[in-house]
Amino acid sequence: MEKSEQLVRWLSVFHGFVDVTILKTVADDEEAITYRVQQHENWIIPPVGDPRRVERIEGELSVLRSQAIQVNATLSRIGEVLETNNQLQSKKIELTEEKMDRDKDRTDKYHPSVIRLLCNLASYDGETAANEPSESILAVLNSDSHAKAERELVNQFREKNVEPSFAVGTSKALYEGKLTWPSDDNPINFSPFTITEASVDDTSMNTRDIFISTTELNGEKMTPAQVEKWLKQAIKTPSTYHELVEQLGVFKAGIEILGGETCYTAYKIKGLIKSIQGLKRKVEAQIKRNKDTAPYILFQVGLRVNNYLTAIERTEELEVVPKSIISFSSIEEKISNLELIPVLPYCFKNGSKREKEEEKNEKEEANSNKRRKTDKHGGAKVIRNEDRIEELTLKDGEKWKGVFTGKEARKGLPKWGKGKMCPKWHVNGHCFDDCPDAESHVPKKDVSAEKKAEMVAWKVAKQAA
Ligand SMILES: [Zn+2]
Repeated sequence: MEKSEQLVRWLSVFHGFVDVTILKTVADDEEAITYRVQQHENWIIPPVGDPRRVERIEGELSVLRSQAIQVNATLSRIGEVLETNNQLQSKKIELTEEKMDRDKDRTDKYHPSVIRLLCNLASYDGETAANEPSESILAVLNSDSHAKAERELVNQFREKNVEPSFAVGTSKALYEGKLTWPSDDNPINFSPFTITEASVDDTSMNTRDIFISTTELNGEKMTPAQVEKWLKQAIKTPSTYHELVEQLGVFKAGIEILGGETCYTAYKIKGLIKSIQGLKRKVEAQIKRNKDTAPYILFQVGLRVNNYLTAIERTEELEVVPKSIISFSSIEEKISNLELIPVLPYCFKNGSKREKEEEKNEKEEANSNKRRKTDKHGGAKVIRNEDRIEELTLKDGEKWKGVFTGKEARKGLPKWGKGKMCPKWHVNGHCFDDCPDAESHVPKKDVSAEKKAEMVAWKVAKQAA
């Protein structure tokens, strides 16, 4: 019998709700009573005190509990599914937003000349400008922050097997669309010196400081430390053929990012790298002859590219820009004929404080001692006295030149071995390894009290003179 039918019967018999005649089987009263009791037990929990009550409740509860456990399990599974769904959903939204963010055209914020330059640069034949900048540079320019732009740049270089290292301010300049140099002798922003291969062993490359024109700082809010970093940043310059080719490769990767892999300028630079590789022996010979050769070649290449960028930045008609500007044949020819005369611009020559100091010292030496030829120290190494006698050092306002230099000044110097006690070493703090008084190039502890007193007396006498 169906439960519902049983219920109807029970209700009809026990409570008289339903006409008794609908019952199919009502044999006699006893049967009816038994049936009633059974139904009652089925539907009603036994009264308090009835021992069946506890059993019954326990049974009901255990059923409920097991059902609850199932429900809970189901709910938690549903919860997990929902959670996963939510995560997927939010991830999807995030990705969509990111993509929208990436696709968003932010190029409006750039000066039209920047976009013009990039469209011209993206030209594949150097005559017809592209309709829009390369996809790769757009991804950089469209980044909504400098940090994201730099990450984009790094990733793009990595795709080209370059682990880039940017000179201070470079990635920001590129993000801001500042590509060209402020002047011909200031190779910053996009230049073969500001983006280098990070994995290159730092000790093998020459490090030079580079001066950056202060006009570049206009509008920049920077701490004094940052300004100092900007003004005096160390750039790497290649010193070997291998480093030169590697740096050219990094520069080529940069051009490919700015103008797209198929752009005319990238094509030209690829050609140049090939010819330099073909001229390997000649390049090496000239590097051997003059250590500035490698940075000079790199500078000339950078300058050509910069001149070209400057030219195409200013024109709506790319076809009028002479292709000769972006031709490297004169450099190739000079290398091939061993005719390179490496002359680096001021910022390289004077950039290194140490080199500058050495140059100055060489000049002083030449002036103070006319018996020596000016190129006497061409091959000599500067050596420094790191542990000087305090009384002998020059104090603020005390001059070295003219007071302790020249033939006159040597009079009265204490004797030391076959020569004299070197004033350059003990007073000025440095000398050269080919000094005639090199025997006296000793640390403080090796100078006797007697010699020290004699030397101090000499110093006082010269200052009084
Ligand atoms: Zn000396």
